[in-house]
Amino acid sequence: MKSSFYHLAWMALLALLIGCSSDEGAIQQQEEHRGPPVVYAVNYPLAYFAGRIAGDSVEVVLPVPVDIDPATWVPDAKAIAELQRADLVLLNGAGYEGWLQRVTLSRSRLVDTSAAFADRLIPVENDVTHSHGPTGDHSHAGTAFTTWLDCEFAIEHARAVFGALLRLHPENESEYRARLAGLEKDLQVLDLELEAVAARIGGQPLLFSHPVYQYFERRYSLNGRSLHWEPGEMPEEAQWRELSGMLSTHPAAWMIWEGTPHPEAVSRLEGLGIRSVVFQPAGNRPESGDYLSVMQDSLRALQQAFPASG
Ligand SMILES: [Zn+2]
Repeated sequence: MKSSFYHLAWMALLALLIGCSSDEGAIQQQEEHRGPPVVYAVNYPLAYFAGRIAGDSVEVVLPVPVDIDPATWVPDAKAIAELQRADLVLLNGAGYEGWLQRVTLSRSRLVDTSAAFADRLIPVENDVTHSHGPTGDHSHAGTAFTTWLDCEFAIEHARAVFGALLRLHPENESEYRARLAGLEKDLQVLDLELEAVAARIGGQPLLFSHPVYQYFERRYSLNGRSLHWEPGEMPEEAQWRELSGMLSTHPAAWMIWEGTPHPEAVSRLEGLGIRSVVFQPAGNRPESGDYLSVMQDSLRALQQAFPASG
């Protein structure tokens, strides 16, 4: 018994000594990196873009649980440790990663994928704090972050992801470049189709259920005002009063929702002459389909709501 205790103590000391040597660190890293490089993405659009461009040559991880909006996610100790081990962390930028300042990550592995259009980000003013169910209260004050809903910006994000992936696998340049071109084409088609339906919507007043459509509004020249409503919940009376006030100067006939609205909210809105349509920002991984199919579903919903006149 006693000798095994000393043996263990000696081994622990030895492990401590070895742990201090940098060679061991390097060996450990090599062992950890036997598989493909690990790329963390802070939201689903970036994870999707990385997967489209890199295929199986990297392991793409979206660390946010499916029931949490990645914009309000805060990594726990385990997630922080994983982020610290990642070969690359793809950031959305635009203030999306509120947790970043409180976490020590190697700067060389962080890539701000909106850096190329930092001068065209939209500041948010006079926002009130509001609740998001399990994640608690938060405010949208600061910078609008749903950048990818402007397809031009989505393409910029994808190009930044490409550049970052290329540093991990320079030998894959021609493959990555071809896949980026395919992705850009898809996003350009989506952009054109959104422009076409936006032209039919014109300048009519619209409501957004949540203040996350700023880039979408600007890109497609929409005349929207945002509420702070949650799709799954029946809004409280104070929220309906806020809506009435808004309607007096902004007589909207349509509300665009982030997700399927509560049926009681839909029928009460219909009583006010407001119809509902869903356009999902796709910040997190969808239950089915992928980024493009979710965008196309939303596009189709808009096309049905605002049909081309025959
Ligand atoms: Zn919010």
